[in-house]
Amino acid sequence: MGTDGIRGSDCPGGSLWRIDVRDAKAAARLAWLVLSLAAGFALAAGLLLPAKTVLRLAALLAAPGAHSAPCLLCGMTHAWVALRAGDLAGAAKANAGSLVLFALLAANSVAAGGVVFYRTIRRGSDRCRRLKENGKTAIGRHRC
Ligand SMILES: [Zn+2]
Repeated sequence: MGTDGIRGSDCPGGSLWRIDVRDAKAAARLAWLVLSLAAGFALAAGLLLPAKTVLRLAALLAAPGAHSAPCLLCGMTHAWVALRAGDLAGAAKANAGSLVLFALLAANSVAAGGVVFYRTIRRGSDRCRRLKENGKTAIGRHRC
């Protein structure tokens, strides 16, 4: 087994189970970005939609009788509505974990946006480097 991949040597046809580390990282990053996009939409919707709409949507999404005991997310919608009004104490009262969850979601959204931004810039500079290596300065409308 090399350092560039994980080989399922115990499996029949082991080469079929070989996973390139770069592919695995790219897949994990893509999954994280997709989940971050979904979480970012939920965060933005919770903050930007009218409070009545947020409460109505939350009631629609709640499965009746899904849980008989309070769970970690109980009160989260009301906490979200309190947060958007700047009522930190009200948010913490509705759900003690809401402030931590909000901070984590916000930080994750910023990090995901930063990764997309950085990779977009780097992809552009990689494209320019390849163009310059080939003695060109532009492909289509893209100029370096
Ligand atoms: Zn609950």
